[in-house]
Amino acid sequence: MPVKVVEDWLNACSGCEISILNIGDPLLDLLPQLEFVHMTALVDHKFFGQVGDKMTMEIPEADVAIVSGGVRNEEHKHELEEIRKKAKFLIALGSCAAYGGIPAQANMWKNEEVFEKVFRHSPSTDPAPDPADPNIPKWTDSCMAVDEVVKADIVIPGCPPHPDWIVEALSALLAGKTSWSLPERSVCDTCPVIREKKAAGGAVKRCFENAEFNPNEGLDKMRCLNEQNILCLGPVTLAGCAGKTGVPRCIQARTPCRGCFGPIRKGAKPMVDMMGALTSVGLDPKTIVDRRAIMNRYIGGHKFLTPLPARPAR
Ligand code: SF4
Ligand code: SF4
Ligand code: SF4
Repeated sequence: MPVKVVEDWLNACSGCEISILNIGDPLLDLLPQLEFVHMTALVDHKFFGQVGDKMTMEIPEADVAIVSGGVRNEEHKHELEEIRKKAKFLIALGSCAAYGGIPAQANMWKNEEVFEKVFRHSPSTDPAPDPADPNIPKWTDSCMAVDEVVKADIVIPGCPPHPDWIVEALSALLAGKTSWSLPERSVCDTCPVIREKKAAGGAVKRCFENAEFNPNEGLDKMRCLNEQNILCLGPVTLAGCAGKTGVPRCIQARTPCRGCFGPIRKGAKPMVDMMGALTSVGLDPKTIVDRRAIMNRYIGGHKFLTPLPARPAR
């Protein structure tokens, strides 16, 4: 009997679903063992009856649910709770599901401030329908990770997650295991660049500054980007973005790690740890522009990012 799978996206961009398709040939080996009974990205299966004739949400019973995206509104929350009720195992796929992801940067402001700035008075776009409109799903107080709402049995981080880990996690479940996780190593642990444990010192440059390197030489001849004063979150980010083998993806492109795989272990405090890592090579973390946002770029759920108290009027 194939394993029944529900796949769904919440506050997501579809990149995680592309990662499922990017599994490539190994997906052909897995597919005979899986039956996708609901996958809104690929299968024409609706939530309220096939022609919208039902009043309650219908998610099919499943052995495994794979959910991408975080929870941004009451509809996502309801959908996720329904999925959790119907599935024996739940996989949170991608960094939006794991940590809130990039959309959780909005957690630095109150919802009303976001509506004002982004939907009603953006200088660069026309006003858009207001998400406070009662006819569309109400925003939750913050943009949440999946496990802030329901239990997640397995978390596959990454923006997007690497196909290798989707195969590994699914294969573990098919083999009867009930858990799976990536080894706790940092991006730096898998990075081949030269480290001298000392930067030039002083201000930290933003991550889009050009690194110094010789394009005719390998990465093992390039100096660590933090030691070139360019902010690289490798020391506090979980390794695995290049799959089972290989050099971290951004480092391959000679650009710094922005932290998309999230913290190395649950309970870590990446911002504190990163400030320590920068200080240890002689850099001043206080010189980082938008420090709080940049160091928590993908992990704004779990209360890592919250609105700052209003500043007193001058
Ligand atoms: S984790 Fe990245 S790829 Fe996946 S839904 Fe979020 S933004 Fe898209
Ligand atoms: S800080 Fe960045 S460039 Fe330096 S070793 Fe770590 S991942 Fe590589
Ligand atoms: S190097 Fe960092 S930001 Fe880039 S893909 Fe890997 S984990 Fe993500």
